[in-house]
Amino acid sequence: MIDSITIERVMDAAEIVDVVSDFVTLRKRGVNMLGLCPFHNEKTPSFTVSPAKGIFKCFGCGKSGTSVHFIMEHETLNYPEAIKWLAKKYHIDVVEKEDSEEQKQQKDERESMMIVSAFAQKFFTRYLWNENEGRTIGLSYFRERSFRDDILKKFEVGFAPEGKLPFTEAAQKEGYRIEYLEKTGLTIKHDDWIRDRFAGRVMFPIHNLAGRAIAFGGRILKEDKNTSKYLNSPESEIYHKSKILYGIYQARREIVINNKCYLVEGYTDVLSMHQAGIENAVASSGTALTIDQLRLINRFTQNITIIYDGDAAGIKASLRGIDIVLEEGMNVKVLLLPDGDDPDSFAKKMGADGFQQYIKKNETDFIKFKTQLFLKETENDPLAKAQLISDVIRSIAVIPNDITRSVYIKECSKLLNVDEEILYNEIYKHKNKQTEDFRRKKTLSNIKQITSYKIEPEKFVTGLLVEELEFLRFLIKYCKTPLGKEEGENPHDPEVVNVDDFMINELEKDDLVSDNDLFKTIFNEIRENIDNESFDSLKYFIQHPNGNISKLATDLISEKFQESKRWSKAGAYTEKEEDILDRLIPKIVLEYKHRKIRFMLEAIEKKIDEASDCEKIREEELIKYMNLKRVEKLIADKLGNRTFI
Ligand SMILES: [Zn+2]
Repeated sequence: MIDSITIERVMDAAEIVDVVSDFVTLRKRGVNMLGLCPFHNEKTPSFTVSPAKGIFKCFGCGKSGTSVHFIMEHETLNYPEAIKWLAKKYHIDVVEKEDSEEQKQQKDERESMMIVSAFAQKFFTRYLWNENEGRTIGLSYFRERSFRDDILKKFEVGFAPEGKLPFTEAAQKEGYRIEYLEKTGLTIKHDDWIRDRFAGRVMFPIHNLAGRAIAFGGRILKEDKNTSKYLNSPESEIYHKSKILYGIYQARREIVINNKCYLVEGYTDVLSMHQAGIENAVASSGTALTIDQLRLINRFTQNITIIYDGDAAGIKASLRGIDIVLEEGMNVKVLLLPDGDDPDSFAKKMGADGFQQYIKKNETDFIKFKTQLFLKETENDPLAKAQLISDVIRSIAVIPNDITRSVYIKECSKLLNVDEEILYNEIYKHKNKQTEDFRRKKTLSNIKQITSYKIEPEKFVTGLLVEELEFLRFLIKYCKTPLGKEEGENPHDPEVVNVDDFMINELEKDDLVSDNDLFKTIFNEIRENIDNESFDSLKYFIQHPNGNISKLATDLISEKFQESKRWSKAGAYTEKEEDILDRLIPKIVLEYKHRKIRFMLEAIEKKIDEASDCEKIREEELIKYMNLKRVEKLIADKLGNRTFI
């Protein structure tokens, strides 16, 4: 973990205008700066930077945050990586907190494997371009397929020399240990023999999001029946093939800019797409598409188009898992290439423009595609057709968005020649079951994680309730602000109570502190500083070493949350929230308690339901229920009767 003094130094140095100006041309507009947003396509600027607040915000796409968040977003880095990126820019030494022995060892091991992989990538690339064997076999293969040099260099392709051990020996000569060569799978070692895994293959390094080579795919060029055409690195500490996509590093920026991702099958498909100017393309490299890979894409866009070359059996197999994508709320389209073509051959035949036009014209949404694909074979088979209908219904039912769902229903009713009404009914049944399952899960997990809060259009799931967020916002923002006076030991000399005192005390005395980890951390750290008058809570949490907390704190104070509409509705009350804290804060606390208690009540109701055959439990729970209900009523009365605003 990066230590907090380093983070503070980085945050102090990384002045927002300076950081953003490296990527966006800013003009002065009042107290703020204005420019074209780098995160979405726009012609009129809606991207503002506030030097005073140290934050940026785009009024077009809603992205916002500090310098660190800007770099995270722009360079697609995680929080510690972004801090390091900025530290480098401002020549600040990064001090990392001491890890435990075990963590250190694990990290060392991963790092050693990364270093070995980096060496291998450079070795293979150099071999392809500079060595006779590499040029005559490897490079001529790529040239025959008319790949341009800039594309080959962009993907850092290479060639692994033929022979038993040339690579392993070269690596060992450079001081790389056999242990890590073996762990990364570059070298295969058995009791009595040892050899290079990829000998005689053209090499496609697989990069992680930060652009480091973590694994390889190697294609054999000789006709050899005894070995498979493609060979991949085995799973390792640094390479989990179900979690990474080939080309994601090279494609990530274009995916964001185009708000779309193309998914193709192989390494050369990705290269061809890029060469054709379609740079938002990735491949799942030999595995069936996994949910983790989809989530990886989902970090950059919700729109995904899967490109297939026309082999029906393969397509049907790969379609099975895709309902998951719909469930994630992702928008999936499918594109079928003409018979006999793959993206590689097709891109070369059509050229960039032709290919792009073909895509636009021919991509079909997933459910329609699936329905059409299976419809043919069910024509004379009513049973198969019924199966298809229920299959389609299942796919539609998981779509979270009502409007999208109804569009699909309309389409499928036409395609399947089934009444819309019938489809609606079936889907309704399905949805009901889902909701019921969901409700069960929800109540069981009690108060822990119920709603997610979303900052549109980016998703930021914290598992916090709106009331909890509001509570945290006031607690962090007005932490040391005096709230009023309270009678202490000496009634003539009342003690001043600060916001943090009041809010923390209120929850603790009723034992209603949230179970949510983010909430608990913030709550506890504020309590630890309750007597520290110089504690700058805002700064403290914005610069927090935990990236989730830092992002949450920034979001809470950025404009999305300021001046909640509730406080300044329709001009009737134009008081600023900081002027009425003495009325607002007790209300915030009450609302928080009210919500918590309502969830506790729900949980008890569920328990009573479930204990239908045990009178004793029912009775106990009922007593709890009645007591809580009284408290709820008390709070509801207070909330309703006392006019705070
Ligand atoms: Zn924007």
